[in-house]
Amino acid sequence: MLHRLTISELTARIMRGDCSAREATQACLDQIKRVDEGVKAFLSYDATDALNQADAADRLLASGVSSQEKPLLGVPVALKDVIAHKGQPLNCASKILGNFISPYDATVVNRLKDAGAVVFGRLNMDEFAMGSSTENSAFFTTLNPWDPTRISGGSSGGCAAAVAAHEAFATVGSDTGGSIRQPAALCGCVGVKPTYGRVSRYGLTAFASSLDQIGPFTKDVSDAALMTRVLSGYDPRDSTSMNEPVPNYQAGFNHDLRGLRIGLPREYMIGGLDPQVDAAVRKAVAQIQSLGAEIVEVSLPHTEYAAATYYIIAPAEASANLARFDGIRYGARVEGADPFELNSRTRGQGFGDEVKRRIILGTYVLSSGYYDAYYIRAQKVRTLIRNDFLKAYETVDAILTPTTPTPAFKVGAKSDDPLQMYLCDVFTISCNLAGICGLSLPCGFTGTPKLPIGLQILGKPFGELTLFRIAQAYEQSTPWHRELSPVA
Ligand code: GLN
Repeated sequence: MLHRLTISELTARIMRGDCSAREATQACLDQIKRVDEGVKAFLSYDATDALNQADAADRLLASGVSSQEKPLLGVPVALKDVIAHKGQPLNCASKILGNFISPYDATVVNRLKDAGAVVFGRLNMDEFAMGSSTENSAFFTTLNPWDPTRISGGSSGGCAAAVAAHEAFATVGSDTGGSIRQPAALCGCVGVKPTYGRVSRYGLTAFASSLDQIGPFTKDVSDAALMTRVLSGYDPRDSTSMNEPVPNYQAGFNHDLRGLRIGLPREYMIGGLDPQVDAAVRKAVAQIQSLGAEIVEVSLPHTEYAAATYYIIAPAEASANLARFDGIRYGARVEGADPFELNSRTRGQGFGDEVKRRIILGTYVLSSGYYDAYYIRAQKVRTLIRNDFLKAYETVDAILTPTTPTPAFKVGAKSDDPLQMYLCDVFTISCNLAGICGLSLPCGFTGTPKLPIGLQILGKPFGELTLFRIAQAYEQSTPWHRELSPVA
């Protein structure tokens, strides 16, 4: 049952010589063969390349390398189909990229490889990361490992499902408005959106550049802290990456939360919140209080405008970023009589409905005459949202909220109603607009069917250390992280 181990359990075994990197990688490949037909997390994977990387890790181990030098030695880690991995397909779950193969490695891939990880596989997602259920993938929908009639969340649904199905020890995704935290919550794993600027986006296909951030999915908080440390750090190739020291997040773990003040936003316990989610989050808050933290009410009054603001800014940036998919530079091409026809045919056939909707919305809000009324105004509201958080963080160290308003819904339940789909993100998007960090971890389950519920912890800019400390103390005092999905 090698595939069920956490990263820390696996690396301990590998370092002791109790198992090899090849065995760990083979265990993931076997698990994919066994369950992925029912989960559909992977778009593709290259087993030969993964096993070759594993053999290289085993040779390094034989040469006497230490776990300090290679903290992920032999650990299989899979990637969302939006992160460049040299020699492997990169489709962003879209048809428009055709048979595109990445010519280089993203910085996060380099960092994972430097840490000794076996980097493999392309995980399903909503096309160009636009969505909350993976139903916008041009290929297929990823199903929830806890209940295959339900969605796995999105846009990084493949990342969350692969961890919950134990097909990889960790996965790496991207979060523009909740795409790591929301699927992590719905699939019962830990997902981290680091502070804007914490992790390099070099090699990440841009969706909304002022919001996008890369982060990990793991089976527990300790693994999330380790993965975040490996992924983080300054990169001259990403002009938004910050030159801030990267702490050893695991060294900050402390089961005693005395001395911490944690905020509960008045505006987040809204009507419309599923009663089981509400109850689980309230219990989690009480638990965190019993570990010594002081819980205080805070106010984030502009939160109610977060979804409206996001759905102006994100499409605006997307409409500019996606202009590069023109049938000339990358991937698929549908010929036309002239470059304009080629361009419109390629984009017309290559993009799915949601991506087109965002491009049209984004182009509209940026067009002259509407720019001031929508785009500039949204930018101003964004500043108010950020200021709400900075003000709250004058008195609290972190903030607790539900990650999602409901547990995983049925496949198809919201796919015809974009507004309902957008409202899945009410608790997660303000974090991206404010540029702060956030984490989701399991805080319980619904009755029947048994579905995971997520607790979101929001931290100060570069406040990941505190985030992990609270999350780990809570996790270790509750049983949720030990629950296995039925396909594990
Ligand atoms: N669900 C949100 C959207 O559709 C967030 C996506 C993301 O974070 N990539 O835009």
